[in-house]
Amino acid sequence: MLFTTAFLLELFPETQGAAEDQFKINQVSTDSRGKMDHALFVPLKGENFNGHSFIDKAIEQGAIATIWQKDEPLPEFLPTDFPVFFASDTLSALQQLAHAYRKSVDPTVIGVTGSNGKTTTKDIISKVLSESFQTHQTKGNLNNHIGVPLTILSMKPDTEMLVLEMGMNHFHEMERLSQIAEPNIAVITNIGESHIENLGSRAGIAKAKAEILVGLQDEGILLIDGDEPLLHPYKTVAKTLGIGFDQTNDTVIKHFVMHAEHSLFTINSDEEYNIPLLGKHHAKNATFAIEIAKQIGMRISQIKQALIQLDMTGMRFEVLKGKEGVTIINDAYNASPTSMKAAVNVVKEMVGFQRKIVVLGDMLELGELSKEYHRSVADVMSTEIDYVCTIGIDANEISERVKQEYPSIITNHFLDKKEIESFLANYLDTTTLILVKASRGMKLETIIEPLI
Ligand code: ATP
Ligand code: MG
Repeated sequence: MLFTTAFLLELFPETQGAAEDQFKINQVSTDSRGKMDHALFVPLKGENFNGHSFIDKAIEQGAIATIWQKDEPLPEFLPTDFPVFFASDTLSALQQLAHAYRKSVDPTVIGVTGSNGKTTTKDIISKVLSESFQTHQTKGNLNNHIGVPLTILSMKPDTEMLVLEMGMNHFHEMERLSQIAEPNIAVITNIGESHIENLGSRAGIAKAKAEILVGLQDEGILLIDGDEPLLHPYKTVAKTLGIGFDQTNDTVIKHFVMHAEHSLFTINSDEEYNIPLLGKHHAKNATFAIEIAKQIGMRISQIKQALIQLDMTGMRFEVLKGKEGVTIINDAYNASPTSMKAAVNVVKEMVGFQRKIVVLGDMLELGELSKEYHRSVADVMSTEIDYVCTIGIDANEISERVKQEYPSIITNHFLDKKEIESFLANYLDTTTLILVKASRGMKLETIIEPLI
């Protein structure tokens, strides 16, 4: 049980039916299609749908109460004793309820935002903390104004640690999420270029992410990518830990070495860590988790143990063995200039291959400067990369720039996925490494399937 209807009555005093009786609510759901065992149904209104029209389905599935938007007519078939709590707006009501429940359960809340690495960092933090605490976390990527409240409302009342992924596209969205979640610990993983069209500039992006400070609790801690100067102004607002490779950071990552399936690094001069993740950016993501776990009182030996056992299935940057023993890195889940450069850098550092091919597709939603951002990916190329293959409209800019600057790299711009597949088919052997990366909308993972 999450709470009883008495908890709802305090927040939404205007009611109908047997709202005064103390019914036990086991879950809160906005979707009438799923299981609704003793659920509170919160119908939402979108541009193309109105959840209120699914109340019959919700009840059929097991809903035992609803929050109802006042301007919506109540259907006549609704039993007169069915508990209805009225609100002027059901989305705000969901958020208000989530906030109240967060305050009542009162776990330590860790909010994770940033342009890239939110899901990865959230997953690492929850894995480490769950070694010692009852931990609840965002499932997958449910990081928006609906996902965050639903995540909060799915934690059990005995939750000690709540790890929330918090995303946004516009100014003031993070502020709202932070007010709902009231984090005790906030993380800003990095500043990239995603949603720059809404936020104006990278400084705008930093400002929008820093809205996470609005709800940060007194005595709260902020952990930031200390290698990003745009985040430094926010250091004065809260107790802040800057984490990164730059010597000026509070926690400096040193001696980074990458092997085929894991990375090693040192922090605080003598703490050595081993993570089954490839790339410097993941050392940083793991270090956020390490520092949080230490703040909460976990022992270094426990933290190390949890990190070694990270299960990376479903995470980004999946290393796959394909036909004829070819190694393929599937990073086609999403892409921004920062993450694409990070991925190319990882490929450069990987040892044991004679041929390295990067297949790069369009990065979407980059606004007016999109072509320039695509060209900037060429900045991280080097002669360790043998082939650059691109597909999409703006990705052609990557090929063009690489062609100019690195004549020894073979570039190919493709017009369709079938062409890429037949090109890659020529290089399937154990000495070849292939990286596949693009925005989600490009669905570039489909070229990987035939190679496996
Ligand atoms: P989304 O906005 O889709 O929720 P996210 O912020 O949750 O993305 P992840 O899904 O964890 O990010 O990772 C997305 C990509 O960012 C991956 O391709 C990964 O290689 C890259 N990445 C992860 N961490 C970092 C980091 N700290 N800095 C730069 N790039 C990163
Ligand atoms: Mg995510």
